[in-house]
Amino acid sequence: MELDSLYQEVILDHYRSPHHKGLSDDKDIQVHHNNPSCGDEITLNLKVQEGKVSDISWDGVGCSISMASASVMSDLLIGKTFREANVIFEAFMELMQSKGRSDGDESLLEDGVAFAGVSKFPARIKCALLSWMAFKDAAIQVME
Ligand code: ZN
Repeated sequence: MELDSLYQEVILDHYRSPHHKGLSDDKDIQVHHNNPSCGDEITLNLKVQEGKVSDISWDGVGCSISMASASVMSDLLIGKTFREANVIFEAFMELMQSKGRSDGDESLLEDGVAFAGVSKFPARIKCALLSWMAFKDAAIQVME
């Protein structure tokens, strides 16, 4: 496995120009998650309206995989119903658990398929999942 398949261009693009980075004041809940094994940290704001993920904004520090994943996750989930968001969430989980055997469903995951190579590196899976877990946590809390 070559490192360049881990750091795909699309991951580097999202890292260099992250989408939805910068915390919005308009939120229903804020969560903070970290990944001590790599030093990644994320604060995520979630806004919900009429059963939809109306906004996600985030800020954080960490490796390119963790930050790019937050960017891709925000792109994918904003505007979705929670049911749709959960389908995408599960598809990304499956991809991360595939140990490199899956290319991912591009119709669901779009730029998220760029993380397929990460699934071969157990230490980096937590980086890729950090923002997704933060979203899940925020979604569960906001439903309570
Ligand atoms: Zn990391």
